[in-house]
Amino acid sequence: MLERYTLPEMKKLWSPEHRFQKWLDLEILACEAWADLGRIPGEAVREIREKARFDVGRIAEIEAVTRHDVIAFVSCVAENVGDAGKYLHLGLTSYDIVDTALSLLMRDALDLILEVLDDLRELLADQAREYQNLPMVGRTHGVHAEPISLGLKFALWHAEMDRAKERLEQARRGISVGRLSGAVGTYAFLDPYVENYVCRRAGLIPAKVSNQVLQRDRHAEYLDALAVTAGSLEKFATEIRHLQRTEVLEAEEGFAPGQKGSSAMPHKRNPVNCERICGLARVLRGNAVAAMENITLWHERDISNSSVERIVIPDSTTLLHYMIVQFTEVLRHLKIYPEQMERNMNRTHGLIFSQRLLLALVAKGLSREEAYLLVQRQAHRNWPEGDFMAALKEDPAIGQYLQADEIDALCDARHYLDRTDYIFWRAGLGGAPVQYWESIAGLLAGQRQTGNVEKGDLLYEGKAKQMYLTTDPDLVWVSYKDEATAFDGLKKDVITGKGTLNNRISAHFFSLLEAAGIPTHFVKLLNSHEMLVKRVEIVPLEVIVRNIAAGSLAKRLGIEEGLVLLRPAVEFSYKNDELHDPLVTEDQIIALGWADSARIQALRTLALEIDEILRSYLVTRNLVLVDFKLEFGIYKKDLILADEISPDTCRFWDRETNEKLDKDRFRRDLGGLIPAYEEVWRRISAE
Ligand code: C5P
Repeated sequence: MLERYTLPEMKKLWSPEHRFQKWLDLEILACEAWADLGRIPGEAVREIREKARFDVGRIAEIEAVTRHDVIAFVSCVAENVGDAGKYLHLGLTSYDIVDTALSLLMRDALDLILEVLDDLRELLADQAREYQNLPMVGRTHGVHAEPISLGLKFALWHAEMDRAKERLEQARRGISVGRLSGAVGTYAFLDPYVENYVCRRAGLIPAKVSNQVLQRDRHAEYLDALAVTAGSLEKFATEIRHLQRTEVLEAEEGFAPGQKGSSAMPHKRNPVNCERICGLARVLRGNAVAAMENITLWHERDISNSSVERIVIPDSTTLLHYMIVQFTEVLRHLKIYPEQMERNMNRTHGLIFSQRLLLALVAKGLSREEAYLLVQRQAHRNWPEGDFMAALKEDPAIGQYLQADEIDALCDARHYLDRTDYIFWRAGLGGAPVQYWESIAGLLAGQRQTGNVEKGDLLYEGKAKQMYLTTDPDLVWVSYKDEATAFDGLKKDVITGKGTLNNRISAHFFSLLEAAGIPTHFVKLLNSHEMLVKRVEIVPLEVIVRNIAAGSLAKRLGIEEGLVLLRPAVEFSYKNDELHDPLVTEDQIIALGWADSARIQALRTLALEIDEILRSYLVTRNLVLVDFKLEFGIYKKDLILADEISPDTCRFWDRETNEKLDKDRFRRDLGGLIPAYEEVWRRISAE
């Protein structure tokens, strides 16, 4: 490890003292396990625990003779322990300790990396938001393409670092294993109890099968995850280096007071930190390849991996840790030059708006091919010298379709940033794109075409709805009833007007969800209390999502209603009135064959996406989405949202007063159910 690129925490982690301490911890745990089995006297273990220590210098002295580091270590510890020292390392082979300790060190090294990665992710999110609307040119192939924003570039990096985190966490799981299974993995002179005891106490899982070593696919996966993360940092750093090129100069690494760029040229300010990050990424890639080479060992165990690992594992973890911290600092002090971004965008005199001009011409009636040729002709004539926009305005063929002021309006970078709100919401960096959803919902409603569908026989009658067959076998006619029920039908009433409100509110939410990309069964509203939906095979599960403790959760767990949950919680109930829709665990659902784990995962993911959409939408309407119940069905092999989404199936609270605007008014005899439902409708429909 090169001191220059090593931060103190990582230096300590990979120091010989720390490594020997891990070995010692494991040796002592093994003695404790043997004592449990009666193979070592308890008194001897106490003595070992009390006296066991090592001295790095002494270990080196012994190793100079034995040429074996583990023997040298054990001998050194035994010298300090005295008579009980004979029990040390009982039944063990060196790699029982070495490999298990290596896993611990690799896991802990990743924890240091993940910690600094979180700082970087946070900074990227802040920078993305800050520069969300700062236009700059987007480049493809190094050539000006169309406008983007600097914030969008940072959002891209932020999402990439989210994936890096997931990848590194997976690598952490992969390496959180140990083994104490003896010289060829048969426990010939060991007991699996010892392995279990030691691994579990060290926070590792015993490998299912091992020989003398843990198999090196694990280490390769780990180094691969490090190298991919380094590759992303290299990509970001390369982008900054490009942006800092004199001809571009849209951003620049900070330059510290007293810093000097060149021994010869006093004017120089070079992107040295980014260049260093790019260089180090090459080392990590090389190390990842070396780790791949380690997978194949003679008869699946030789020691050729060891020399490689002494270098690549400490080096790659140390370097990545350093690179993340460095890059975070680069980003924190990055100089941004908006005027230069604008100058660069104007450099091509409007060429970057060519696609928008082309589409405007098509909208005016030209064929795509004709429009393309018209725009391309002026683009090529005016490249690299010339004024594209002026030439367009003077071109009579174009003038037939677009006036000068129209051309000016089309060549506006702000248009290209219209969707950043949407992207930022999806990336978890901004609020809900409500206006966008509503406009799409409106568009979809206008486009929806169904033939003449007629109402047929009653198919099913539930507590709140009747479903009728229709002349189209794929569609069902749903009629919302005015009946209110609670506590599995024990409490019942007819509340005039509820059916029409729920019909309208459900249609509104389904349309909104469709606009946001969630497949639902909703087809169209038929009249005040009826809608047409797709006929699905219902999944016999209720999927409940909770954001705030209320209702049965608060009651069951004795939690005060109103407690905001740390994150949304999904739960499943078995749809069965007689049994009162009992809660079921995911394992029970799989074990009973009601759904496989892929289906459960899909239900969970959809439910959480719906929660995210509805929650962020409702906040803009001064409503808090406390919890809600969903039902899903299968339509032509696809899983889609079914049933209803209304104040009957959701808890809505007023954002300021927490006043209940849902069926709890009926359940708890609070009165004013219809006014509450009307209020929900008023807010979401902005009527
Ligand atoms: O009663 P509980 O707290 O379990 O309800 C959680 C959410 O699911 C509430 O919004 C409730 O209205 C809804 N729910 C439902 N139908 C059920 C059970 C719960 O709509 N059968």
